[in-house]
Amino acid sequence: MGKILGIIGGGQLGMMITEAAKKMPEHISKIIVLDPTENCPAAQVGAEQIIADFKNKDAIVDLANKSDIITYEIESGDSDVLKSVEKNSEINPSPETLRIIQDKFLQKSFLLENNIPVPEFIKIKNIDDVKKGLKKFGYPALLKARRDAYDGRGNFKINSQDDVQKAFDYFKGQNLLLEKFVPFCMEVSVIGSRNTKGQIKTYPLVENIHDDNILRETIAPARVTEEVTKKAEQIAEKTMAVLKGAGIFGIEMFVTQNDDVLINEIAPRVHNSGHHTLQSSETSQFEQHLRAILGLDLGSTKLIHNTIMYNILGIKSFEGKYAPITLSEPNVYLKMYGKQISKPLRKLGHFNLVAEHGETVEQLLKKLKILKEKVTIEPLH
Ligand code: AMP
Repeated sequence: MGKILGIIGGGQLGMMITEAAKKMPEHISKIIVLDPTENCPAAQVGAEQIIADFKNKDAIVDLANKSDIITYEIESGDSDVLKSVEKNSEINPSPETLRIIQDKFLQKSFLLENNIPVPEFIKIKNIDDVKKGLKKFGYPALLKARRDAYDGRGNFKINSQDDVQKAFDYFKGQNLLLEKFVPFCMEVSVIGSRNTKGQIKTYPLVENIHDDNILRETIAPARVTEEVTKKAEQIAEKTMAVLKGAGIFGIEMFVTQNDDVLINEIAPRVHNSGHHTLQSSETSQFEQHLRAILGLDLGSTKLIHNTIMYNILGIKSFEGKYAPITLSEPNVYLKMYGKQISKPLRKLGHFNLVAEHGETVEQLLKKLKILKEKVTIEPLH
């Protein structure tokens, strides 16, 4: 008999996990998501929904009582609350893995202790610590919130002495760390998977292009040397081995001018830079996540086709209903997330542009230029 899967968060990631789960009825009989938005993306593709805030303790207990196994699509869950419901439902990745990852200071300390390269960083308690850190690292440096930061929202770049007070005040008493600025030449990532039995598989290295700290494009495979690819993939495998959590992990890294590879951060969940796997690989990251948390053998992670993933974001100057997006082109796979309202830079959908007959990434990039114009969000009047 299939298990009942509970997911904390029913946005686009929960939606694509739900779609993968629906294809595995022998393993998963029902999907329930916890999400505050009525008719959230996951509910639109057949998940039952508990409408409540992600951090609502009663709702999490309710979800645990109704589910055999719980996972999440957001990393801001309360690990203590999750720990308290572990007796009612299996939780993967475990609350302990989540506790380490969701605090950037603990996460980086953990990686450092395991000899995994990260940018230099220090814990910040007061403004004097910031000044001390800047003496050590020089300018610029990044002051970062330890928790609940995503898409760059928890970072303040300190360019000169004039910014120090401003940066410190910006965070208003939050727990912080200071990090040395890495003049990277590329941002890359590896999607890692580990099942409950300890089997590990990583997807090939991909290149990520950001704008305003938000992912715009993922290019699979990354345009780097074989040596850099090997280095990054080894770092990812080692990370998966020491982390011990079950599920998919998005491991974001910097490649420096000297071809060094450093981990920027890890997400304990399916990841935007893994959406290309829906078409580029035999096993999508969503199916792999389910295989991992259910203790099934992991699927192949081989990249079968070069692919570019393009995020369709809300335009900056507009909030409201938007005209439907359609895109009917060969080898282009559009996925809209069913969000009613566009907001500035909100992730509304993506498409994968898949190579045919051995097309190179450069050839795909040329095609992408034209396709991008066809998916601009237009206000609906
Ligand atoms: P984060 O939210 O910490 O992943 O940071 C968001 C973005 O800020 C990253 O994707 C990088 O582009 C940039 N960033 C973060 N940390 C550093 C760093 N130490 N040096 C340079 N850029 C960084």
